[in-house]
Order: sequence, then C-alpha cells, then structure tokens
Amino acid sequence: MQRFQCYIDGEFADGEARFESIDPATGAAWAEMPEAREADVDRAVEAAHTALYDGPWPKLTATQRGKLLYKLADLVAEKAQKLAELETRDTGKIIRETSAQIAYVAEYYRYYAGIADKIEGSYLPIDKPDMDVWLRREPIGVVAMVVPWNSQLFLSAVKIGPALAAGCTMVVKASEDGPAPLLEFARLVHEAGFPAGVVNIITGFGPSCGAALSRHRKVDHIAFTGGPETARHVVRNSAENLASTSLELGGKSPFIVFADADLESAANAQVAGIFAATGQSCVAGSRLIVERSVKDRFLDLLKGKAEAVGIGRPLDMATEVGPLATQRQRDHIEALVEHSLAAGARLVTGGTAPEGAGYYYRPTILDCDGSSSPSLEEEFFGPVLSVLSFETEAEALELANNTRYGLAAGLFTRDLTRAHRLMKGIRAGIVWVNTYRAVSPIAPFGGFGLSGHGREGGMAAALDFTRTKTVWLRTSDEPIPDPFVMR
Ligand code: NAD
Repeated sequence: MQRFQCYIDGEFADGEARFESIDPATGAAWAEMPEAREADVDRAVEAAHTALYDGPWPKLTATQRGKLLYKLADLVAEKAQKLAELETRDTGKIIRETSAQIAYVAEYYRYYAGIADKIEGSYLPIDKPDMDVWLRREPIGVVAMVVPWNSQLFLSAVKIGPALAAGCTMVVKASEDGPAPLLEFARLVHEAGFPAGVVNIITGFGPSCGAALSRHRKVDHIAFTGGPETARHVVRNSAENLASTSLELGGKSPFIVFADADLESAANAQVAGIFAATGQSCVAGSRLIVERSVKDRFLDLLKGKAEAVGIGRPLDMATEVGPLATQRQRDHIEALVEHSLAAGARLVTGGTAPEGAGYYYRPTILDCDGSSSPSLEEEFFGPVLSVLSFETEAEALELANNTRYGLAAGLFTRDLTRAHRLMKGIRAGIVWVNTYRAVSPIAPFGGFGLSGHGREGGMAAALDFTRTKTVWLRTSDEPIPDPFVMR
C-alpha cells in the first residue's frame, strides 16, 4: 500500500486519521490517505493566513511570484507522466487522457506565471482638483479551494494558478475519491520553493473537512468545483465567514446536430463529448438534439462507435473507456438508467455493466423522443447519452435551452449564418461550433444557473482573485477646510 501525506505550512504530515483509497479498476484498496479533520483544517488555514501577511510571500514582487510559477510549470511538465499514472490509478481515468491532460496543466501554470506581473491597478480621473486617486489590486486573501475527483490536477490548476499570480495564499482540499495526484503535486509546490503556508494541500471528507474549511473564519474566498447540491452546503457555510464564492458545477449540455453537418465528424465529437473520461466530465454533451431527417443515420453511426469503444484497464494506453471512479457513481448511473427506461426511454445500446471486477459501465444511448425521461434533466456524470430530435431551428433552440443548467453546448452545422444565430440564442457559458470539449488557459470557462457562477481561465480569472483598494491622496498643502462638510 502506498501512503500519502497532507502538505501544511511547508511540511508533509499525516492527518488526524487515515482512510483507504480504492482502485476503481479492481475495487481493491491500493493506498492509504491522510484524513484531515477540523484541527488539520485549522492549522492549514492559520498557516495560509500567516503567510498572506507575514514572512516572505507578501514581500515578493509580482515578477518573483511569476518566476516561482514558471518553476512550478516546469516541474509539472517534467513529472506529468508520474502524476498521470497516480491519477489513473486512483480515479480510473484512462492514462491516454491523464497523460495528455496533465502535460497541458503545465501550460496553465505557465500562462498564469506570465500574468502575475500584468495585474495592474488604475488611476482615476477624479472630479476634485486637489486629489490623486487610484485603485490598487491586492490579493483577495486566503482562498479555500474544493475540488471533485475528476481531473483534480486540472481543476485545481485553474484555481491555484490565478490565485498565486494574484498573490493569494490557499488551502486546497482534494476530493476524498482519488486524492493521490493532488497530494503528490504538493511535492512539486515544495520543490518549486513557494514559502511555507502559501499553498497547503489536504484531503478529507466533505461533511467534516470540506465543511470546516468552507466556514473557517479566516477564509476570504471559496473556489468550489463539484455538484449543485454540495454547492448549496458550501454557500450555506459561507454565511458563517461571509466569504465570496465562485462555483463551477455540473451540466446537462445540449449537443445539436443539423442535417447539413459533417455527420462523421459530429459523431466523433459526440463520442468525445459523452464517452471520453467515461462521461465523468462537467461539460459532457449528454443531450443529443438531432435533426429528425438524419436521426436514424446519426444514431446508427453513434451506436457503431459506442459498441466499438475499447473498454479496459485504465493504465493500458489502448483503453478508451475505463471504470467510473466509485461504486456509488455506478449505482447512481444504474438507477437513473432504470428510471429513464421506466419513463419511456428506448435503449439503443449499452445499459449494463460488464461482468467482472471494477466499476465499469457500458457506453449507453437512450432514445428519449416522446418520453419524459429523467435522464433529460438529471446529470449522470457517466457514459450515458439521451437523444431528442427536432424539425425546425426554433425547436432545436427551445430543446437546447430546456434545462436549469448553463455550462456548455455543442453545435454542428455547415451553415455559418445559422451557427451565428444559434450561438447567440443558446443559454450556456461555452458554445463549441463544429468541435467539442476544447479548452485553453486563454479561454474563460464556466456557466450559470445550476452550473454555478464565476469564470476560470483567462486574465479575468486572475482579477477575480484580487480585491481593489481605493487610495485617496490630497495634493494640497492648504489646511483642510470645514470638517463638517463631506468633501
Ligand atoms: P461533490 O459535489 O460531491 O464533491 C466535490 C467536493 O466537495 C469534494 O471534495 C467533497 O469532499 C466536497 N464536499 C462534499 N460535501 C461538502 C460540504 N458539505 N462542504 C464542503 N465541501 C464538501 O462532487 P463530486 O461528486 O465529487 O463531482 C462531481 C460533480 O462535480 C458533478 O456534478 C460535476 O458536474 C461537477 N464538476 C464540475 C466541473 C466544472 O468545472 N463546472 C468540473 C468537474 C466536475
């Protein structure tokens, strides 16, 4: 059994308790994790608070902060394969994806390294003759970062990178499901030379560790990624410390295919949108909305691709679909498919778990035309696609927007004027036209409604980790006039 530790105040330490981490490909325990509880959380937040105001961190120039981030980026690039293997082992996400994704995570740190000394304040053209007034941008403070199991290095990089660029300090809580890669990443933070307490990385359970962190009185901002129900707990917790929040939650993203689209390309994008990462992706294109005249042809194409997918061991480079991260997740998917079939959905393919060990589930397609399937509303977070068809562009848009989520949307058509019309009408934070699941550190990412609020990625994300201070400087040597009148 491998053993992992928390990283608090620049030191590696065991938590108040320990728990076993399960390899989702076998269902067997493979590592021991430190379980942080209230006292560990308190130590970590205190360390972050001290590092924010005392010691070397606040004295560094923005350029020096950027240099530390460049070093971290280089270390992530160098250790990407090891981190990828840990993530694959601990979460079941296939190595083909983790190795590519983590190599790209280095680019996020590099991007924010470059941004560190480009966060500028401003000078205000104030309406008083004897005053100079400007805005300073200062770090927002101690940030609590809480992430879910899927893509933990990626989902934390889009928080840690901009927060460090802005000069914040932080406590990152890895998910209790698959925390190994993030706990290992702490070694790179240490090696890069960040002062003690600037980045603290812990793991533990939501109701104990996550709750203690999000309501801690010295936390100024909470950057949360996870499900909407947990987000409600986090927001309630933030009523204690009145911390600001940014919430990256789930989705029920529409994937619209018109008859004039390149159907082969659209089918590959739809496979990427729903079966990649075994569907455990917040931007999963889980609602296919296809023009009726090509529905049968497109479903045949998709069915062929879904049935040809290579299900296997996640550490095998040839595997395309690995296990789900937890038994709980597979149970949820099985139950939701059952309810959807009972509500009139028709099974096109899949709908079962393969024999044998591990939390596998076959790529599944549900034809939901004419049904009231709950699969059209509820997030599976698994490899299950729900299908609807339309006759007119207006109908396609109405179906696409018929959701309380608002994270992402896909649109496949060769008609560019139609693409422009729909792109404006679709209610989502990201619209991909003739592509899907593309990301970049340069492009903001996030949604609204049940998908949360706030944006990650891009320059604006770094500004979101700052708060402004308005400084008034009187330039007159004359005595201050009438003190009873506001100037
Ligand atoms: P989750 O909401 O169950 O857990 C997320 C994190 O919150 C975990 O670290 C957990 O320990 C913690 N947590 C649980 N209870 C808590 C509490 N009371 N207080 C504070 N923290 C608590 O999510 P999950 O099931 O691990 O992940 C799946 C969800 O994440 C899906 O809904 C998915 O769509 C969403 N997600 C969103 C994005 C995005 O960027 N929009 C990305 C990935 C995943």
